[in-house]
Amino acid sequence: MKIIINGNVKPYYIQMLVMLYFPGERFPEDDASDDGRLCEISVLSDDTGTDAGASVKADGKKANGASRLPHGIFPEEKEAQYAAGAALLEAFTALTGHTPPWGMLTGVRPAKLALDLLDKGYSAEEAVTFFTEVYKAAKDKAVLATTTAESSKRIVTEDRRRECSLYIAIPFCPTRCSYCSFVSYTSPKLLAMIPDYLEVLVEDVKHSLRMIDSLGLRLASIYIGGGTPTVLSASQLEALLAALQNVSHGVDEFTLEAGRPDTITDEKLHIAKIYGATRVSVNTQTLNEAVLRNIGRSHTTDDFFKAYSLACKHGFRDINVDLIAGLPGDTVESFMDSVDRVCALDPTNITVHAFSVKKSAEMKTSGLDVYDRDGEIAGESVRYSGQKLLSSGYIPYYMYRQKNTVGNLENVGYSRLGHEGLYNIFMMDEIHTVFACGASSVTKLVGENEKGETIINRLFEPKYPYEYLRSSADERTAHREEILRTAKAFYSTYGIK
Ligand code: SF4
Repeated sequence: MKIIINGNVKPYYIQMLVMLYFPGERFPEDDASDDGRLCEISVLSDDTGTDAGASVKADGKKANGASRLPHGIFPEEKEAQYAAGAALLEAFTALTGHTPPWGMLTGVRPAKLALDLLDKGYSAEEAVTFFTEVYKAAKDKAVLATTTAESSKRIVTEDRRRECSLYIAIPFCPTRCSYCSFVSYTSPKLLAMIPDYLEVLVEDVKHSLRMIDSLGLRLASIYIGGGTPTVLSASQLEALLAALQNVSHGVDEFTLEAGRPDTITDEKLHIAKIYGATRVSVNTQTLNEAVLRNIGRSHTTDDFFKAYSLACKHGFRDINVDLIAGLPGDTVESFMDSVDRVCALDPTNITVHAFSVKKSAEMKTSGLDVYDRDGEIAGESVRYSGQKLLSSGYIPYYMYRQKNTVGNLENVGYSRLGHEGLYNIFMMDEIHTVFACGASSVTKLVGENEKGETIINRLFEPKYPYEYLRSSADERTAHREEILRTAKAFYSTYGIK
């Protein structure tokens, strides 16, 4: 589709909005590959507000939209974008007869926008109205964003902003799920890197703990994520956890995202418990055997129930179970059955993801090119999970959206009151610094400037384990020292007092 913008609006936002209606749409820059689809936007500001007009053409049809935003609703730099978004939404809705559930919002964190409104003094009801009337979101999404923001507001105190968290990446899995788009090594040759990887990782973890200490920060939460952290053998897991033993019992939450049920053993959970883990994830994604096979998971539902009861036996304060709506071959009825059976176990946390589609070529190669493209099954499944979990006493406490999610849906973490996954909130709402160790991880330094605005500085680790291991011991030491210098300089300028 050709995009013409007259005014100060970023093409990227317009492209994202177009893709809500035309998933996978391309935006050629030359006329040679012109497919006849057109989207033209004009934005003009005057003394009292901004006007936007949109004209769209696709599949032999044309439609127009218009909007006006008075000054003062959004910061100046956002006003043109949202005016254009409203005009474009009107035009595309007229063209297709469909309005995306999140209206003109294309970002990852809609609940953060709701939190901003609550922080500005809006009541929950007013925030919901803002979402439906200004962002044009559906009522159920507006309520979801606001309720999630309320959970976050209950947990995030000023003191929390002066703390920090630690993330540790284990980007290895026993086998590859067909839909996986993460960095995770699965072949036996690559899994053989684990011992070397752990050696470097443990040193990085120790360095991060020293850095946290020298910056005078309190460590609030630890999260070991993947991949599949329990792909480590019991002794490897113990070697990693031993690096945390001086701090792990003092944090408010320590998550081991065990993940695949077929990697969870009594011994590993025992070690996790001894070293202070308070929260484990036992992720089945679905309780439909055929769907499990479709997506290349190497475990059965029986494996899941066994792993779950092991986790219960060890008495972790919190157990999370992940489910995915809209998986290839799944139906609304079978997803409802998965939700009901997981709910019957009464875990303190249940996270419901919407299936996120990889590039179609990869889907074809992996035999997964049969999925719910328009997101109707996923939409219905997500709606059911929301109703079921709310009526069973769970509350949404964190939420994010991903690119290429079927039906433009969201991922939502639900919990029992008082059992919210703290790390998830800290990380998603960018409450405080998360130091990160391991391949593909990102340290996110979070502070504020003199105007009270949040300042973020990201420090990237090498993407792949082989890159992470490629540097010499001297280079790693230099890299760690560089992180320490950057963090010290950041905190001396932006540290929250
Ligand atoms: S468990 Fe997660 S990271 Fe591992 S292969 Fe499956 S989707 Fe990818």
